[in-house]
Amino acid sequence: MGELRISEKKSRAFTSGLPQCLADAGVLAFNVVSGCPVDCHYCKYQTKDPSRADVVHLYTLLGQQARDELASLARRGSLPNMVLFNTVSESFFGNALANRVAGEALEALFSAGVYVNLTTKGIMPRSVMDIASRYPHLITVTVNVASLSESFHRLFEPRVAMPDDRFHMIRRLRELGVPVRGRIEPLVPTENDSAKDLEPLLARFREVGVKDVVVAYLHYGVDVANRLARRVSRVQTALLGPWYRGPNGETVHLVDKEYRKRKYTEFKQIAQRYSMRLLVCACRNADIYSGRCFVMPAPIQGPEKKKLL
Ligand code: SF4
Repeated sequence: MGELRISEKKSRAFTSGLPQCLADAGVLAFNVVSGCPVDCHYCKYQTKDPSRADVVHLYTLLGQQARDELASLARRGSLPNMVLFNTVSESFFGNALANRVAGEALEALFSAGVYVNLTTKGIMPRSVMDIASRYPHLITVTVNVASLSESFHRLFEPRVAMPDDRFHMIRRLRELGVPVRGRIEPLVPTENDSAKDLEPLLARFREVGVKDVVVAYLHYGVDVANRLARRVSRVQTALLGPWYRGPNGETVHLVDKEYRKRKYTEFKQIAQRYSMRLLVCACRNADIYSGRCFVMPAPIQGPEKKKLL
């Protein structure tokens, strides 16, 4: 990781910068750090300002700030319906302070009765798993494992926790009664999107008790293409480029629609064989799917809601 800068607070703990379908559903985003210590080569969120790519900001008082902001939202009757935790960064990168802040923020959200969708490629510490286990009705943890292959790991996401460690964490979360979903993202054409790649990966998820898995292809575009060009071999980018070329030779964000449809159908059939449900991320495939592929909370019951407000 590059430089870690410690401050006290962010300008705002919760933000609304999310796709429209989520914003319309009253969803807010929460990130423990600004900038991402995991720094995956394909990440579209880390493309904005390459000069600051190596700086990660961590905020010591963010847990308390989250609590204060939630209290203020509750007073105004506008608590979010759900908070997405880790939308543009990874909290669980093996830093004790980040783990503590993540735990405090989760405690604040749960005591306000706010439902959390937490996505991670890292390893949640036992202390945070224990917090989640006390509120299983208020959380879904989505664990992203894009591939079991070591070469994929080395090539695209060298700082992501090893798949075996993530599956071990899932098993532990399931034992604690925490709902877990799988996520397979990004699918990269010819790198990890064959039946030979998907089948053992789905089998591993199933083995540790995960029945729902969300999938999505790499979101490319010029920014990601430039980032990859700086970080992976020329041969690799030369192989990838043609998959993301439009009819006039322009760089496009998504692999061809018909190709994706065919692949998603194939993956759904594999999932069925394992008695699993494979969902396609609608936010990343708006040209094919509509609706929501994330877990929305059940409406909060009267007495619990009254207590919050
Ligand atoms: S962990 Fe997520 S947010 Fe962080 S660099 Fe990787 S893809 Fe981006």
